[in-house]
Amino acid sequence: MKEGAPGHGCGHNMFGAASLGAAVAIKELIAAGKIKGTVRFYGTPAEEDREGKVWMAKAGLFDDVDICFDWHPAAENKANIQSSQAVTHYMIEFKGKSAHAAADPWNGRSALDGAELFNVGINFLREHVKPSVRIHYVYKAAGNVPNVIPDTASVWLWIRDSKRTGVADVEKRMMDIAKGAGMMAGVQSKVTIISGLYEILVNETGAKAMQSNMDAIGPITYTKEEIDFGNNIMKEYGKEQLGIDGHIFPLEATRPDPDGGSTDVGDISWIVPEVGLTATTAPAKSPWHSWVVVACGGMSIGHKGLLFASKSLATTMCDMFENEQLRKDIRAEFEKRRGTERWKAILPDVMPPIE
Ligand SMILES: [Zn+2]
Repeated sequence: MKEGAPGHGCGHNMFGAASLGAAVAIKELIAAGKIKGTVRFYGTPAEEDREGKVWMAKAGLFDDVDICFDWHPAAENKANIQSSQAVTHYMIEFKGKSAHAAADPWNGRSALDGAELFNVGINFLREHVKPSVRIHYVYKAAGNVPNVIPDTASVWLWIRDSKRTGVADVEKRMMDIAKGAGMMAGVQSKVTIISGLYEILVNETGAKAMQSNMDAIGPITYTKEEIDFGNNIMKEYGKEQLGIDGHIFPLEATRPDPDGGSTDVGDISWIVPEVGLTATTAPAKSPWHSWVVVACGGMSIGHKGLLFASKSLATTMCDMFENEQLRKDIRAEFEKRRGTERWKAILPDVMPPIE
């Protein structure tokens, strides 16, 4: 490990090493003639904002895969059985006419008025959406100086729900609100879809296979130093000190509405059955996207979780290579859950934005 190297508040610095470890183990088994098949390791960049996997999926990179495996750092060891939220990102742009705000404001049409009225409408809409819906926004442009009526303004808005169909319902209302806000302010309004993600299509058969391997590997144990470190950093952060939870949770039932948050793994799970896990890389009840996760992910606490993930992935992959019936059952469940709906990338028709 490089001294002073960057970590990641969501533990993404550990993704590659654990997944590559599993892929190399399988490659060696194939090379030794112990299992037959192909293993492919995917490096998938830009998960947090640009949805790298969606661009890769759009290019067809997952089309010939039988089963896809993934993992995510967490404060708990769990086989993946919960879904995630579908989300769409929008840019709402308003175009008006600038004028001197004191000398002749009647000649101006404020794009900022349009943006503000839009958000007033969005905030009134909140009363009438389902509890599973989340709507959040920021102003990307809101004028430059108070004495010039802004001729451009824009709002970056995200709509999430448990299912893509739920996002589509709210989207329709949002489109009307954008139109209405533009009319009220006497400006033009335009809604552009930037990108979007699908909810995860859960696969219980795959999750059960993962669970049995996690159980066989057994819980992660920690030294006194590691537990002290975890407790101290939680204390520093102002959170309860509960040690580190290395035990393996039993397989849960899939909740109808997932916890808040979205992932580009969702899109992959509509193309190919997805099997995965979370592994403990941080203290119990860690505040995610925080320094606690960064610090623990760069030391032995994180490394133990990484190794546990790697072993769980590799052993479950072995099962898939060896057990044709298991592969068939996973596929059958996937087809049943997917039904007639087919994945389509929610992306503009352009090349990936590689800055
Ligand atoms: Zn993450």
